[in-house]
Amino acid sequence: MQINQYFSAEYAEARQVFLQAARVAGADVVNFENLGPGQEDGQLFTDVALLGPEDAENLLVLISGTHGVEGFGGSGVQVGLLREGVAERLGPNTRLVMVHALNPYGFANLRRFNEDNVDLNRNFLDHSESYPDNKEYDQLADVIAPRSFSFTANVSAMLRILIYRLRHGNARLQQAVTHGQYSHPQGLFYGGHFATWSNRTLNKIIEPYLTRVSRAGVIDFHTGLGPYGYGEVILNYQEDDPAYRRAVMWWGEERVKSTVSGESVSAHLSGTVKQAFARMLPDAELTAVGLEFGTLPPMVVFKAIRAENWLHHYGGVDHPGAEKIKQQLLRAFYPDEDLWKQKVWEQGRLVVEQALANLQVETP
Ligand SMILES: [Zn+2]
Repeated sequence: MQINQYFSAEYAEARQVFLQAARVAGADVVNFENLGPGQEDGQLFTDVALLGPEDAENLLVLISGTHGVEGFGGSGVQVGLLREGVAERLGPNTRLVMVHALNPYGFANLRRFNEDNVDLNRNFLDHSESYPDNKEYDQLADVIAPRSFSFTANVSAMLRILIYRLRHGNARLQQAVTHGQYSHPQGLFYGGHFATWSNRTLNKIIEPYLTRVSRAGVIDFHTGLGPYGYGEVILNYQEDDPAYRRAVMWWGEERVKSTVSGESVSAHLSGTVKQAFARMLPDAELTAVGLEFGTLPPMVVFKAIRAENWLHHYGGVDHPGAEKIKQQLLRAFYPDEDLWKQKVWEQGRLVVEQALANLQVETP
């Protein structure tokens, strides 16, 4: 099947396939190297493919790999779009910016978090201000991201999580765990205390458009939440916000969900990429969304992140369970099945094409 060739098995392959597809499509390409501690030269890059006129009035940004290991799905869609001639369908007044592997460390090392253990999609807030607290996370911190992974420690941790869920409900548990926290640097969904490399890189990529663009769409590709292979368009806005109404116009009521109303598969988050664009392009009419593809049930995904985080901080790469834990994490975010890839490609392409078509239309 041809679409299988859009999706890669590892970061290095995904990068080469993306760069090659970008060259063939005639895109300008810019590479940003991520050189973290212990990192060899020439390994990790955020690559950007640029198509359409530089001074266009409309801008569409497609981002993969904000959450590292989640990058395989979005990368596949980006490659498919390049190979299937998205460049020819841009229209005269649209610039397309494809950001490949925004968190290349996580993509290459099969982590959801970056080289600083930061969840990039919680990192885009004003670091000169005080951080939001997450008291619920504090209460559960030692069971969400435990130091010990012994059988008894795990059983008692899962019991505490279960009791919390029975008392407060699923939505509140998800909010407590995933909202983002700024006080446990080795925990999960940690937002960090400075603007990370990927954060600064995204600012550099978007900076040239600050004064040029009057309408912008942003699609940030994610995986791991929701029904298997289904793509939900997620916004942080209220349902009466013009951006929400625009998103419904572009993609239809069925697919578009708000985290504010609680109807989305995602909890309401702080410091997201979507919020960053509102600051980076303050004068543009902005429609910034996440596109989240479901994989496995939430508890399976949570356990996979939890185990990998323990391995990273405490278990060590030589731990006998390391390979299995990494594979579980990979498959929680990237099912190795043709059907899943096909669903991601078809809906990914559709959502991007709908965005492109609607960007050309003046908002009434
Ligand atoms: Zn994600």
